Amino acid sequence: MSESSCTVYELKCPECKKGFGNVPLSACPDCLAPLEVQYDLDSVRGRFTKESVAAGPANIWRYKELLPIPEGHQPDLPVGFTPLVKADRLGKRIGATNLYVKNDAVCFPTLSFKDRVVAVALANAQHFGFDVVGCSSTGNLANSVAAQSTRLGLRACILVPSDLEPAKILNTQVYGAKLVRIEGNYDHVNRLCTLIADEYKWGFVNVNLRPYYAEGSKTVGYEIAEQLGWRLPDNIVCPMAGGSLIRKIKKAFAELVALGIVEDKPVKFFGAQATGCSPISHSVKNGWDDIEPQRPNTIARSLAIGNPADGPAASKMIQSTGGYAEDVSDVEIVSGIQELAETEGIFTETAGGVTTAVTAKLYADGRIGKDELTVSVITGNGLKTTDPLVGKFAEERAVKPRLAEFDAFLRESDASLITGVAEEEVELVGGTK
Ligand SMILES: *Cc1c(COP(=O)(O)O)cnc(C)c1O
Ligand SMILES: [Zn+2]
Repeated sequence: MSESSCTVYELKCPECKKGFGNVPLSACPDCLAPLEVQYDLDSVRGRFTKESVAAGPANIWRYKELLPIPEGHQPDLPVGFTPLVKADRLGKRIGATNLYVKNDAVCFPTLSFKDRVVAVALANAQHFGFDVVGCSSTGNLANSVAAQSTRLGLRACILVPSDLEPAKILNTQVYGAKLVRIEGNYDHVNRLCTLIADEYKWGFVNVNLRPYYAEGSKTVGYEIAEQLGWRLPDNIVCPMAGGSLIRKIKKAFAELVALGIVEDKPVKFFGAQATGCSPISHSVKNGWDDIEPQRPNTIARSLAIGNPADGPAASKMIQSTGGYAEDVSDVEIVSGIQELAETEGIFTETAGGVTTAVTAKLYADGRIGKDELTVSVITGNGLKTTDPLVGKFAEERAVKPRLAEFDAFLRESDASLITGVAEEEVELVGGTK
């Protein structure tokens, strides 16, 4: 294992402030606090400017000066830089006039924001000389580690809870990765991975490489600021599993302010969870600075972490910004999925259903003002979690390939679609809308 020299970042303990250089290590051996990558922002200042970013590639590597990428590593996968879309139709439904959706349902290459964190983690895994990489995953991380590791020529062993959605299992195995289903929930899987990482000397992206992995999430924040014309929004609504992404968006904004790239302003952070696994939102609602672990029971499997590593820090951060956290039932999650699809044409997975339903609730409860600039962060793709939608739509009879048959079918099925036919026929369907 080589230690990188002359880099502008290193691991630091947020408690005792001890520096560790750059090594595969997740927590301070003395305080047990999760380690953070800290940058020497003064030395980054001249190299990270609006102009240098604009001249970069249309992917996360345009921000590489603020990512822990080892000297000499040449990233080539065009990860990230997903659309930020003004969501006026969704806004109209939920009473918002200045709402945006950050659409990581279409993140490259595996259709979730996890592609960002994996790209950064694997660059470090390669640098540290690991032959085998792995992860404990609620699904999306498994897909991304499997896809990206094979492209880098690394072998992968991936551990998941045994009851994961079939699409997420298949979307891991197709890349040739070794997939191991563990009898238990994510928290059992994660504990086992900690032991395996030590025993086998593997690089686990969210265990011993976690500080590097987590930095990849900052790119969601950089992109939002850049896509708003180098401005910060008033509010961020973000789903939470381990509680890392929401914290890193905040860190990204703070770095941009420190570098003088965006104007400082208060941004409120709102966390979103499923009620069936809501340790962080529960903590925020009670004003705690710690979390009480839960046993997950929700269709939002990608968010089902009962004992989140960054939970206490996320709860404190949200409260310090004047934000809030909400949680929604499985029924509300499915409605959220449909609402975003029907209004904005974006098909998100259960986690995005959580975020959309929570966003609606925050407006309805007046926690977010109608005209405030708000970004709702959609993190994964609906094609991976179709199960909750099965049976939602009527299965209608097949129609013979003749115009008259089609016409008859439409009149019985949805006559409101008939708008452009001859006068007398319009009268026939009058009043059906
Ligand atoms: C992992 C995941 C999250 C939450 O990320 P954390 O950083 O663990 O809070 C949100 N959405 C989706 C789709 C995920 O896969
Ligand atoms: Zn320490």
